[in-house]
Amino acid sequence: MINLAAAWIADPRTVAVMDALEAAGGAGCARFVGGAVRNALLGAVVDDIDIATTLTPQAVSAALAAASLRAVPTGIDHGTVTAISGGRPFEITTLRRDVSTDGRHAVVAFTDDWALDAGRRDFTMNALYADRAGAVLDPTGVGVADALAGRVAFVGDPQTRIREDYLRVMRFFRFHAWYGAGEPDRAALAACAALKGPVAALAAERVSKELMKLLAAQDPRAALAAMAETGVLAIATPGLENLGRLSGLVEVEAQLMAEPDAGLRLAALLDDDPPASAAFAQRLRLPNALRDRLAAALDPSLALTSWMSPREARRAVYQIGQAAFADRVKLTWAAAPNSAQAPQWRALLALGETWTPPTLPVSGVDAVAAGTPKGPLVGAVLREVEAWWIDQDFPDDRAAAAERLKAVVQGMVP
Ligand code: ATP
Ligand code: MG
Repeated sequence: MINLAAAWIADPRTVAVMDALEAAGGAGCARFVGGAVRNALLGAVVDDIDIATTLTPQAVSAALAAASLRAVPTGIDHGTVTAISGGRPFEITTLRRDVSTDGRHAVVAFTDDWALDAGRRDFTMNALYADRAGAVLDPTGVGVADALAGRVAFVGDPQTRIREDYLRVMRFFRFHAWYGAGEPDRAALAACAALKGPVAALAAERVSKELMKLLAAQDPRAALAAMAETGVLAIATPGLENLGRLSGLVEVEAQLMAEPDAGLRLAALLDDDPPASAAFAQRLRLPNALRDRLAAALDPSLALTSWMSPREARRAVYQIGQAAFADRVKLTWAAAPNSAQAPQWRALLALGETWTPPTLPVSGVDAVAAGTPKGPLVGAVLREVEAWWIDQDFPDDRAAAAERLKAVVQGMVP
């Protein structure tokens, strides 16, 4: 019997939720499940806590209300109520068994049978439960061993399980990237390859969520390579071709001792072609902020080199902004991560972080005061002054800028 000694189990906020549920359903009516148990077993970080219970969703809501805990009906049809305890969310789901599935939607029925609930979960390492004392329950009998060995294996027959929900193809590679060791499970891989077609018809948000989680793994390269080999990558997320640059970026991040940057990794996989990345973002329904980041990071009109001078670098930072500059430096470096140019790239990154682009010391008001008629000429005059100012390396000198402005107005205004 394995006993988890995790701080989150003893946390008063967790205890309050378990107390509330057990007050209604008796001892043992609720258990921790899924990622929290798996990660506690592996000594990995636990972010969100899922709880499975024999109580119906209505009984869960009532139990939480009786304990003065806030309940949010997150997915009441699917049996999920989120409890907020001390500001922390707990997803509480009634034990379920599948009634029918069409690969995209499942009809579920509630049950009080823990083994049936385990049977509809995707991977053996995700079908683990722990009671409030931390004792691990493993209804499939192999979940603990698989988790410890890094074996991402389906609960039951892989093909059958994928036909119930094609998102499991994406989840297989995501969990392999995070928790897999060695070669992916062969039966699972073969099933993913054989049944990849319908992944293209899934809701784009569900696919992109799994993709971004996969890319946030410390080293997603082996999982991505397996996705490419099976043809899943081309069907699920067409347009991600540059596995070589992604690999380089992972090495650059390691050299920088930086956290995995899923957004930039996605950029690395795409081509330097903003219209293409915009189409990709649209198709996968990516958030607008990520769409814009990709477009800026993949704009080839501004080429960076490891030998550019600080002055040239400042010009580039001014033109594309600090964030896009850092992204472009890393993407360019990623093309040859182990070259002797690392110190140069690091210096450019440091410059981009510490140098905040200044604003032009003169404005439209100054242009008008100097005799420019209001209208399009104001912008033209300012752009001319700005070009000079950039060329002078952004002098913080309002008098010099005003003088230049005067000269420009004399020459440009009829
Ligand atoms: P993490 O939250 O760390 O990414 P997790 O294991 O908690 O990992 P979730 O996506 O939050 O993953 O799902 C919670 C649990 O619900 C899983 O562990 C699994 O048991 C089950 N589950 C989620 N999605 C599916 C699915 N499509 N098919 C079968 N079971 C699923
Ligand atoms: Mg989770």
